[in-house]
Amino acid sequence: MKKERNADTVVVGTGPGGATVARELARAGKDVLLLEKGRHHQWPVGTPLAYATMYDIRRSREGVLVRRGVTAGGSTMLYSGNAYDPPEFLKEEYGLDLSEETAETREELSIRPIPASFSKDYVGTRRLVEAAGELGYAMTPQERFIDPDRCDPGCDRCLFGCRRGAKWTARSYVEDAQEAGAGVLLRCDVREVLHAKGQIRGVRVKTPTGEETIGARRVVLAAGGMGTPMILHRSGVPGAGTHFFTDPMAVLLGVMKEGKGTFHEITYTFANESHRGEFVWGNTGAVNALLAQIAGGYLPAAIRGFAMNRLAGMFVKLCDEPTGRLDPDGSFHKALTPKDGQTMDKGVALARSVMIKAGVRPETISVARGIGGHPGGTAAIGRVVGTDLQTDVAGLYVCDNSVMPRSGGIPPVLTLIALGKKFARGLLDN
Ligand SMILES: Cc1cc2nc3c(=O)[nH]c(=O)nc-3n(C[C@H](O)[C@H](O)[C@H](O)COP(=O)(O)OP(=O)(O)OC[C@H]3O[C@@H](n4cnc5c(N)ncnc54)[C@H](O)[C@@H]3O)c2cc1C
Repeated sequence: MKKERNADTVVVGTGPGGATVARELARAGKDVLLLEKGRHHQWPVGTPLAYATMYDIRRSREGVLVRRGVTAGGSTMLYSGNAYDPPEFLKEEYGLDLSEETAETREELSIRPIPASFSKDYVGTRRLVEAAGELGYAMTPQERFIDPDRCDPGCDRCLFGCRRGAKWTARSYVEDAQEAGAGVLLRCDVREVLHAKGQIRGVRVKTPTGEETIGARRVVLAAGGMGTPMILHRSGVPGAGTHFFTDPMAVLLGVMKEGKGTFHEITYTFANESHRGEFVWGNTGAVNALLAQIAGGYLPAAIRGFAMNRLAGMFVKLCDEPTGRLDPDGSFHKALTPKDGQTMDKGVALARSVMIKAGVRPETISVARGIGGHPGGTAAIGRVVGTDLQTDVAGLYVCDNSVMPRSGGIPPVLTLIALGKKFARGLLDN
């Protein structure tokens, strides 16, 4: 008979939310077990095969695409590595002040803007930055979770995972947690949390060898904005799954009249934030811009036959309204609202004008719309959890992007690390 496993705290998911919580608790000497549905993928890292192995890409019934990572390290294995401070509304409206933990993380992970030397040979990106400046918009170097000394400026494969270890990922926090004594189980799909009389008891999991239950005094769900609400649905914890947002992007691709575009130039190294709260926009490497068109379902006729070298890309990332939904039957709804559509049109028009000014032939510009990568809102503070991140079930917590009440319109990883640190430290005395 299988021996029943127990842990003081079970953490579900190894993205920035879960890995940070597990690391903090393990370093404080707590008994922690970290459960992850994905594998510890190695060989596809840094290759386009990452799309077939580490990515989970879903299309909503209304046609919006959402990407997430199902692998050790979660979506950070595939993220661009751009760092933004937490949105101000967390402090102003919910009293969640993450400034200390954010400052600590910035220092610890050496988060800083890419140096000028890094992008000195970028021809297409520089043309876009100059054109934006001529139109009155500053595109500034972005702060990143990337060590420029280890990164190859001509690589642009952050979205496939980083082979050089230049990009921080939550895998390193998983390793830290393990070193500090945490148990880690991969390929362990948490089907439901077990609770009785309003108190958490543990989790039921599915592994390659079968199903088992794991007892726990405390469970922290960090399965991400799509994973966490599904576990809550299956466990009969009400209220989850609504208010889904995803920060959908539009990705533009076009052909330069002459000279080089953004091929072999790293995506999202420069951006403009003057419309933050509505959208942010910046440069996209040619390969990523092309892949986005293919994911959007078409390869525009205008760009066929042109050398990759002349392709140039830009993105517009929308701060969307939290109107999507993940239902208990697994169906997933997300549409751009009329307001989202208008805001996106405004951002696309702006990016398009920058591209044309930079020398892109207008008739070649194609736009792939509605590709999201920041799923959240589905177990939000004030609706499903309190500001202590606890649900109505005592001892059941959520700490991932699903607790965000709405989109901050900016990439959330730095916020989630800071939140994970603050939350875990708050648990240490109980
Ligand atoms: C292409 C792309 C680019 C991005 N770029 C940036 C960027 O530049 N900067 C930034 O800040 N953010 C970026 N993001 C977003 C960021 O990566 C995510 O918002 C963030 O990782 C979410 O953290 P999380 O902890 O909520 O969930 P995730 O990182 O998604 O982690 C959730 C984990 O839970 C696991 N899981 C799910 N269900 C179960 C289950 N039932 N049982 C066990 N485990 C489960 C998953 O496998 C996963 O490992 C990007 C995302 C994508 C997809």
